[in-house]
Amino acid sequence: MTSHVPMSVRTAEPVTAIPVSIAYGDGIGPEIMDACLRILAAAGAQLAIERVELGEAVYRAGHSAGITPHAWDSLRRTKVFYKAPITTPQGGGYKSLNVTVRKSLGLFANVRPCRALSPAVACRHPDMDLVIIRENEEDLYAGIEHRQTDEVYQCLKLITRPGCEKIVRYAFDYARAHGRKKVSCFTKDNIMKLTDGLFHKVFDEVRAEYPEIESEHWIVDIGAARLATVPEQFEVIVMPNLYGDILSDVALELTGSVGLGASSNIGQHGAMFEAIHGSAPMIAGQDIANPSGLLIAGAMMLDHVGQGAAAARVRNAWLRTLEDGIHTADIHGAASVGLAVGTAAFADAVIARMGEVPGTLPVAAPSTAVVPIYVPVRAAPAEKTLVGVDVFVHFDGLPEALAERLKVAFNNPLLDLQMITNRGVKVWPAGLPETFCSDHWRCRFMARSGAAFNRAMMIELLRDLHYSGVDFVKTEGLYLFDGEPGFSLGQGQ
Ligand code: NAD
Repeated sequence: MTSHVPMSVRTAEPVTAIPVSIAYGDGIGPEIMDACLRILAAAGAQLAIERVELGEAVYRAGHSAGITPHAWDSLRRTKVFYKAPITTPQGGGYKSLNVTVRKSLGLFANVRPCRALSPAVACRHPDMDLVIIRENEEDLYAGIEHRQTDEVYQCLKLITRPGCEKIVRYAFDYARAHGRKKVSCFTKDNIMKLTDGLFHKVFDEVRAEYPEIESEHWIVDIGAARLATVPEQFEVIVMPNLYGDILSDVALELTGSVGLGASSNIGQHGAMFEAIHGSAPMIAGQDIANPSGLLIAGAMMLDHVGQGAAAARVRNAWLRTLEDGIHTADIHGAASVGLAVGTAAFADAVIARMGEVPGTLPVAAPSTAVVPIYVPVRAAPAEKTLVGVDVFVHFDGLPEALAERLKVAFNNPLLDLQMITNRGVKVWPAGLPETFCSDHWRCRFMARSGAAFNRAMMIELLRDLHYSGVDFVKTEGLYLFDGEPGFSLGQGQ
């Protein structure tokens, strides 16, 4: 169901009301959304609200992605989505609504500011002020998973060159537009040389075009350790999806509470604004949740729709409230005055301070930053040469037995069984008996020296394996791209 609710606002800026799709979400969603909309209205936001239904009830009504066609119509029309957290029901068959919305609308950049509010909110790192820019559409979040054998399950990690170019350029353009001096990149390309290797490679290509911005790359494990111990050393960090998802929660918890975390999801065709936390069902309906994350997401939305003055009023009144020691339970501590306030009372306190500015923390100014969105240009295709095939086999036994079985099974003298790996480790020829082997084997076939490999040979090979009763569960073609191998080698070679 979609309903149109004009927001009652005081006219502070001569702007037209901007259509915005709003979802109240589940759990603490309705109470924090209600608080935030009251504050945005008091700040003079000009929003024409279209309320859309999504989340748990919609899932349970039979929509596996938790969103109705009506809601999609609204999102595609307004192109601006202000969303409270939702509950994803446990169990199979329910897809993550967030992932679906981000990917369907092409919201490739997830921007998560992580800033200490010390001394208003206690924080071990008072100078921390960084922004995590997380790739939002790719990586292990493609959700392509398969069970292939009794013992082995697989999740595909997909990284694309256009995806890397868009997010890395967005990070540098964000830094330029917001006056940030440094961009850091975290990957695990010492292990994932092709996928994370591509992300790092694109980072190196793009950084050269922004000589005024300092740039650096960290392996994600030591980068994460530095982020947790000396976060003030970072300004903008760009990461593939999974690392960004995890480390932005770590960074926001360092600022005091996940309840303070806001994020925008930006794409060429629209944007979504939300808190980084979930629906917190354990505290739902108790009027104790902190609305700050969703509120600052709302300020980011006002910046996005050109209502930067209202956004600044929201931020300043909110900072003033925190400085005055009016705190919800999650951030209540030494800097608080009196007892923890509830969600609605916190909103009332912010509204009462509308027009005021913080005394100690920097005053927020209306944002004029515009971050361009890079539209990748498809490169000329590489020369692609098929040189072999990895056949993945379900087999219980020793590597030598599998090798014998395969050699008997195929009878093409131009083909060579080059190696067998188990969980990526070479176990034949010359494997170590200590290596643990599951029932899932990668068997690499390539043309013998002097012969060329082609797809017909691959099909013949599979036919031979099939008629010999070899249980192959998938194949991967081995290609050279402009002469460069597009496949990993077995570890232990
Ligand atoms: P959560 O973020 O809801 O809660 C984690 C912890 O933080 C809990 O202790 C909670 O009480 C606390 N917390 C969260 N927000 C708070 C706030 N505003 N004020 C004070 N305390 C707050 O994470 P979870 O428990 O893992 O997930 C609960 C549900 O939320 C799940 O169904 C999950 O799928 C969903 N979820 C939704 C989103 C989203 O819609 N963007 C994001 C994450 C999780």
